[in-house]
Parts: sequence; C-alpha cells; structure tokens
Amino acid sequence: MVGSAIVRKLQDEGYTTIITRTSSELDLRNQAAVADFFDQETPDYVFLAAAKVGGILANNTYRAEFLYDNLMIESNIIHSAYKTGVKKLLFLGSSCIYPKLAPQPLKEEYLLSGYLESTNEPYAIAKITGIKLCDAYRSQYGCNFISAMPTNLYGPNDNYNLQGSHVLPALIRKFHEAKVNDEPTVEVWGTGSPMREFLHADDLADACFFLMENYNDELFVNIGTGEDVTIRETAELIKDIVGFEGELRWNTEKPDGTPRKLMDVSRLHEMGWKHKTELRKGLEMTYQDFLANEVLYIE
Ligand code: GDP
Repeated sequence: MVGSAIVRKLQDEGYTTIITRTSSELDLRNQAAVADFFDQETPDYVFLAAAKVGGILANNTYRAEFLYDNLMIESNIIHSAYKTGVKKLLFLGSSCIYPKLAPQPLKEEYLLSGYLESTNEPYAIAKITGIKLCDAYRSQYGCNFISAMPTNLYGPNDNYNLQGSHVLPALIRKFHEAKVNDEPTVEVWGTGSPMREFLHADDLADACFFLMENYNDELFVNIGTGEDVTIRETAELIKDIVGFEGELRWNTEKPDGTPRKLMDVSRLHEMGWKHKTELRKGLEMTYQDFLANEVLYIE
C-alpha cells in the first residue's frame, strides 16, 4: 500500500527512473541479495517503506516474525545504503513506537519514555531500532538518513485478510459482505472505546516526498492528521458509507490495544505540510477502490 502510493506520487512528480522490487523478486531479509541489489542498481534516494505489517491480531500472533523480518529488512537496507553511498534515505516507522500510556498528542520526544503496548511490542522494538540505525549511521558516517513515523494508514492495495488486516480494511470488508449476504449483524472487536488517527496512503506519500525534499535532520518526524476518532465512531462511519443496515456486535474477547495514539503533527505543520484527504472522503474513495478490486483483494 505505502510503496505503491509513493510510486504514484513520484510518477506524478515526473520521475521516470524509479527502481522497485516486489517481495517475491527480492527478499529484503536476505543480506547478500540486498547487497547485490544495491551494488547493481546504486539508487540515489531510498524510500524504505517495506516492512512486515499487520493489525492487532497479526502483531500479537506472529511476534517472532514481526521482530525478525523487520530487523533484517531495516539492517540490510540501511547498511547497504551506507555502503553504496546513497545520498538520502527515508525510513518509515509507526506511531506504535510510542509508550502505551504516553501523554497525548504524541510528541517526537516521548520516544523511549515508558513501556510499550504489549500486542505490538515486537514490531515497535523493530521500528525503534530502525530509527536508531538511521541516527547511528548519520552520527558515525555522516549519512543523510531521516525517519518519519506515520499514523494508521489506509488506501488502495491495503490488506483485506481478516486475520492480518488493520481495522479499516477489516470493517470495509465485513460490512460489505454482511450487506451483500443480508446478514443481521457484524462483529467488531474490542469495546469500541480506543481512539485511532487515520491517514490516507496518498497523503502519506505526499508527506514522504515533502520530507525527502525538505528535511535533513536527525530527529524523526510524525506524519498524521492530528485528529482522531473512537473505534465505535469509525465503525458507524464505515457502516454508513457501505450502506449496511444491521447491528454492530462488539466482541470484547478481542483486545482493544493501545487506548489512544494521536500524533502531535505540529512540527510537520510548521514545516508547511498538512494532509488533504478527510476521513469520510478517504473512506468513500477506499470503498470504491475495494469494490473495483474485490477479486484481487480477496483471494
Ligand atoms: P492497532 O492500531 O495496532 O491496535 O491495530 P488495528 O487497526 O488492528 O486495531 C485498532 C482497533 O480496532 C483495536 O482496538 C481493535 O480491537 C479494533 N477493531 C475492531 N474491529 C476490528 C477488526 O475487525 N479488525 C481489526 N484488526 N481491528 C478491529
């Protein structure tokens, strides 16, 4: 989702030498394969969007994979970028790097000030390591490696597998299928009280491009909208957009995760960047994209 949004943005900006690899073409966990790729292609600018990602259930279930895969991907790419003289690298993390009970909104300086949320601790540790790798290569070797922390993302090419997905694609699919099959209820996880901030992938790509052009400092930058909603409001919104007329059934056996993770985006706003897509509009676009690509998204 993020990689394809960045490619669309670069193409819109007129770039033509965009080098990409799918995970089946290049296993980023393989050190030798990544080193060969950088030796052969010698990219100037690197957007490190690749990661093992997933929703609350996947993070909590595949704890070893979320830690190992992400550590390997980041270490291999950042080291090879240094070795081959990449001019600038942007590493993408996540808002889950912040302590579970950090004050809200989350300021960049709250990193490592408290305990992490347990459901996604392995993923968060890997992403914190990525930030620290960029900082270390900057300080020891003078590499211009920057990091940005996006909030929860959604958009085209999202993961619609209900065991692995985040809340928005999961609910789009669940409400849509319930509507089509005329089911009376849809199961929604947790209590509905956690709050989440959502950013459209095209806005994220726009912010990444902006930072690649304008930002060269060590401290990572939050990317978000600065606005959040409860999971209950989110579910009602998607229900309305999809046009499902039944009831919500809250399954409190499933975890809530972090109570709230609202980004403080004042640094990015001060630099002159702000998101463009409001949540309702973005979700309407995403539902249309889901309808157009349902066969592809649901295997
Ligand atoms: P998180 O932001 O890392 O917690 O990841 P998610 O996007 O997977 O979950 C966000 C919140 O939505 C959690 O409180 C979930 O329990 C809740 N949620 C409600 N229904 C669903 C669902 O069907 N799938 C997922 N993934 N989360 C859901």
